[in-house]
Amino acid sequence: MPRGKPLTAKTRMKPVSAKKRAHKAAEKAQGAWEHMARVKALPCVICGAAPPSQAHHVTGDKMSRSDWRVISLCYSCHQGPQGYHAAKRSWVARNGPDYLYLDRVKELLTQR
Ligand SMILES: [Zn+2]
Ligand SMILES: [Zn+2]
Repeated sequence: MPRGKPLTAKTRMKPVSAKKRAHKAAEKAQGAWEHMARVKALPCVICGAAPPSQAHHVTGDKMSRSDWRVISLCYSCHQGPQGYHAAKRSWVARNGPDYLYLDRVKELLTQR
């Protein structure tokens, strides 16, 4: 009788790697959550208003939305009438694209 293909080994491996993958994803999500919390504790990168700020997801460079790519904005610069979401075009005209501030956020975070 010929030996069966090692299919069973593969199927036995599957739950383990899926679990590992889920664990990794959870770890990553946790890290991103902590990153967002740190960003919210920074002053607004546009006007320097004191924290707590809101975490704005950078979308200006058309990269996929990620919790790691957030900048700190105060309410007025974020969701106010002249904020990014209400008046994106004039916001960008005034301040430049949102992703430019990712470096500034990185800088502020490493200063702490
Ligand atoms: Zn602001
Ligand atoms: Zn936003």
